[in-house]
Amino acid sequence: MGGIKVIGAGLAGSEAALYLAEKGLQVQLLEMRPGTMTPAHRTDLAAELVCSNSLKSTRLDTPSGLLKEELRLLGSRLLTIAESCAVPAGHALAVDRELFARSVSDQLERQPNIELVRGEVTRLPSEPCILCTGPLTSDALARELQALMGAEQLCFFDAIAPIVSSDSLDFTKVYSKDRYDKGEPDYLNCPFNRDEYYAFVEALLEGEKHQAHEFENEFFRDLDFSYYENCTPVEELARRGIDTLRHGVMRPMGLEHGGVKPFAVLQLRTENRDRTAFNLVGCQTMLRQSEQQRVFRLIPGLEQAEFLRYGSIHRNSYLNAPSVLAPNLTLRAARNVFVAGQLSGVEGYVECIGTGLLAAKILSEGIPMLPPETIMGQLWRRLIDPSVHNFQPINANYGLLPALETPLRDKKLKKESLSRRSLTALQQLLGELDD
Ligand SMILES: Cc1cc2nc3c(=O)[nH]c(=O)nc-3n(C[C@H](O)[C@H](O)[C@H](O)COP(=O)(O)OP(=O)(O)OC[C@H]3O[C@@H](n4cnc5c(N)ncnc54)[C@H](O)[C@@H]3O)c2cc1C
Repeated sequence: MGGIKVIGAGLAGSEAALYLAEKGLQVQLLEMRPGTMTPAHRTDLAAELVCSNSLKSTRLDTPSGLLKEELRLLGSRLLTIAESCAVPAGHALAVDRELFARSVSDQLERQPNIELVRGEVTRLPSEPCILCTGPLTSDALARELQALMGAEQLCFFDAIAPIVSSDSLDFTKVYSKDRYDKGEPDYLNCPFNRDEYYAFVEALLEGEKHQAHEFENEFFRDLDFSYYENCTPVEELARRGIDTLRHGVMRPMGLEHGGVKPFAVLQLRTENRDRTAFNLVGCQTMLRQSEQQRVFRLIPGLEQAEFLRYGSIHRNSYLNAPSVLAPNLTLRAARNVFVAGQLSGVEGYVECIGTGLLAAKILSEGIPMLPPETIMGQLWRRLIDPSVHNFQPINANYGLLPALETPLRDKKLKKESLSRRSLTALQQLLGELDD
């Protein structure tokens, strides 16, 4: 195989470049910094962490801990570098960010099979390449992608609603029903009475927002959410009027239950076939995570909710992956272009490293689909599943995984079993591939 271009020396691109080069392939790594900076990066170093220095938990009873173990089995280079730059952070893998970025940059520079080329890429190459330009992909390249696939296939911010586990819901209050009983009762419904609804709206309005970056504040100040009604933060909708939610996303019509018409209803939509995880429809939010716990637990039936993922709204360039990606993570409209990192539709440092590694392994070894029991296997499946509508970026969470054959009530045991099952399945696949 000839040379491979990797575009973007961030987390995904650095991982992909190191993996390919160590396999003996010639790599041209193209990075626009420092000539053209993103609004968040400050240096010309590869793999610069633009915000937190934490790569989250290493515990095997957490989804991020499991994801790290999967990446270790798959041969991640950046994870090993991160561990060598670790700073004390309890069960989390946190790094000295400067040391980490310098160490990655040094390894890239020392690798004889990698040529690092500085300069903004504005056109997609015709050779095999992995596109890893991240959540702040430059404008010119974003325009090129839009021209290739259609403007609507590239989003510029994400609006994510929280996901809760089904076994934390109070089913004495929550009921299954489709509006006007038109279809299967796929949705779960949380009914509010008048007092509960107004208490919830009040709490939403008082809720403290997370601290956005200055450039994000500017971006959202200029953004007209009325063009993106489905992405408007729930607290912004509530600000339009105390009854806006119950006349809109929380309207109770057709959701009567046991002869009672609720004052308002929050619907929960399933995240997986096993119905172990549900998202709060219309509850994309800019509230801090601790505030999300406080406010969303006021919803009847969610008093003890376990949050598998928190809601968020960020500046983020990402593809409408299920519509535009082929099963091997190439663009359907340009089959030489593999996509990885945040641009491909995953969210989070380790998820970006993971998809960089995955794209490199698909491109260089044609690795088959990973087992459904693994987080990486599920991230891959979600990115290419054409039945997914209203795609939102995905991160590692246990809600992605199929339910255990024998349900376990103990949450810790359940998580450990899910993790053990994943690693066994992955080891088995890798063993078969080695034979
Ligand atoms: C402001 C912000 C804060 C974040 N904070 C966190 C956090 O705390 N924790 C977390 O888990 N995730 C966070 N994320 C999400 C995500 O995990 C990180 O952005 C992560 O670095 C993305 O990895 P990546 O490899 O996809 O992109 P990046 O690491 O951003 O790498 C992309 C690279 O491509 C380069 N590039 C862009 N366009 C071009 C072009 N046209 N030509 C050549 N090079 C180009 C960029 O300069 C950059 O070096 C954050 C995202 C943003 C935007």
